[in-house]
Amino acid sequence: MLLLEAGASHGGLFSDMPSGFARFMHSRKFNWLYRSHKEPQLTNPKGCYTPRGKMLGGSSGINAMIYTRGLSSDYNSWAAKGNVGWSYNDLLPYFIKSENNSRGASNYHGNSGPLTVSDVSPFYPVSKCFLEACSEFGLPPNPDFNGVHLEGHNSYQFTMKDGKRCSAYHAYLKPALKRNNLTVISGCLTERVAFSGIKATGVCYQQNGRRYIASARKEVILCAGAFNSPQILMRSGVGSASELAKFGIESVYDNPAVGKNLQEHVDVSIQCKNKMRDGLTLSPLGLIKLSVPFIQYILSSKGQLAHSLAEVGAFYRSSNEVKEPDIQAHLLPVMFNDSGYDWNPTLKHGFTCHVCLLRPESRGAVHLNPEDPMAKPQITYGFLSEKSDQKALLNGIRKALEILKQPALAKHNGGIMFPNPCLSDAELLEQIKSKTGLIYHPAGTCKMGPKNDTGAVVDPELKVIGVEKLRVIDASIMPTVISGNTNAPTIAIAEKGADLIKADALIH
Ligand SMILES: Cc1cc2nc3c(=O)[nH]c(=O)nc-3n(C[C@H](O)[C@H](O)[C@H](O)COP(=O)(O)OP(=O)(O)OC[C@H]3O[C@@H](n4cnc5c(N)ncnc54)[C@H](O)[C@@H]3O)c2cc1C
Repeated sequence: MLLLEAGASHGGLFSDMPSGFARFMHSRKFNWLYRSHKEPQLTNPKGCYTPRGKMLGGSSGINAMIYTRGLSSDYNSWAAKGNVGWSYNDLLPYFIKSENNSRGASNYHGNSGPLTVSDVSPFYPVSKCFLEACSEFGLPPNPDFNGVHLEGHNSYQFTMKDGKRCSAYHAYLKPALKRNNLTVISGCLTERVAFSGIKATGVCYQQNGRRYIASARKEVILCAGAFNSPQILMRSGVGSASELAKFGIESVYDNPAVGKNLQEHVDVSIQCKNKMRDGLTLSPLGLIKLSVPFIQYILSSKGQLAHSLAEVGAFYRSSNEVKEPDIQAHLLPVMFNDSGYDWNPTLKHGFTCHVCLLRPESRGAVHLNPEDPMAKPQITYGFLSEKSDQKALLNGIRKALEILKQPALAKHNGGIMFPNPCLSDAELLEQIKSKTGLIYHPAGTCKMGPKNDTGAVVDPELKVIGVEKLRVIDASIMPTVISGNTNAPTIAIAEKGADLIKADALIH
């Protein structure tokens, strides 16, 4: 088993420290620093900032560690589209297998898996007040977002262990490093899959300016995420033959579906002044004040920095016409802009209510960079191109603005800075188009589907259609993005993928 990873290491102290993920928002070393472009329906000229983890453990090394799985109907709809073996009941055992939940084992949870999932009481007063405000608004608490139903508000559970992040690296890779049958090469860029005819025979990769080929006796598995897995497939000749011809890439299998069907939870950050000034600011004084919690964290893995910034949240329905929650809120005790890239607002005392749409109809695509197929891929989200998405997101924002107006938040809420709550729907839509963001959950670009599905890239065994000895196992295979945070579902996909690989290995 050979694991190739472009990132240099596992991210170190700031990755382990739950609040430390903000450190990676500008990091060239640990973040691919993508940005979408060609979004004609949006008015933000810069495109949407898109962080992706570049380290052992991938984006789970820089994520907010929230542990949610979405709705059972998400997976049941995958199965209904011909993906045999991918219903909620099929996947629940993999969620349970992967999990070591501090609440113990139950019908929904496991307590002996490698992925530690913990309850962490909210640290910031504004987070606690947000939960009270949700109750005042009429949204009840939900004791378990991953249990009987999704709707409600609460503190999230986190992939954390004793005040430290539990990424895919910590849970799965680190314990396996001592195995004789595993070699890890980090700091190397996979260029393409090598083929003999339609059979994958290995991988071409680059390291320190030199190019290498690693041969695969059994099979090649791509797990480079929703942007880079389709990018590698296209560089390898699996994609739209006519598009690849423009790059001089010889077609191995003509499949225009590669890179299409991009889905992401389109998000709007409601920014609010914090009258209590008891959140987080990254002003020079705010940073000096953080030195005490920093030392406390180094000594004990406890205190302010042992908390994710997105401590609490809610799932609700944008309207009564919708049967299950289609909106998720994340409350942050700090103001960000541009999905976390623009830190100017963090200099002020404020908090942010992220409002995202869980089952968007709009679709985007990933293409090779026209100037250089090895450079950052060309990403287009197509956010808000469907009217239904515009309507649902506007309704979701209106409801969030109502929650923020509740008495429990009165002492914190010093006024909404963005968007302007007094605008008409049409004006509000125009305003949010100028600052549309995302909540870091890209999926769908190597869509799983039965062989008669012309939009599919992999079959339900995660094998790439049209070629041999090649699979994709990551968030890109989701036919539709699930209604929640995507780390736990990606790990469940990987657990199932591992069983599929083992089952094949036993036969051959
Ligand atoms: C800032 C941020 C916050 C998030 N917060 C949450 C959260 O709180 N909860 C949650 O559930 N989800 C969250 N997510 C999403 C979650 O982390 C992802 O859904 C999940 O990690 C996706 O896994 P993946 O395997 O598909 O891709 P990734 O985790 O992105 O892994 C892809 C890996 O492949 C490597 N790679 C890519 N291209 C190449 C190449 N050419 N050669 C070699 N290596 C390559 C990358 O460096 C990376 O290590 C967040 C994501 C981000 C970025």
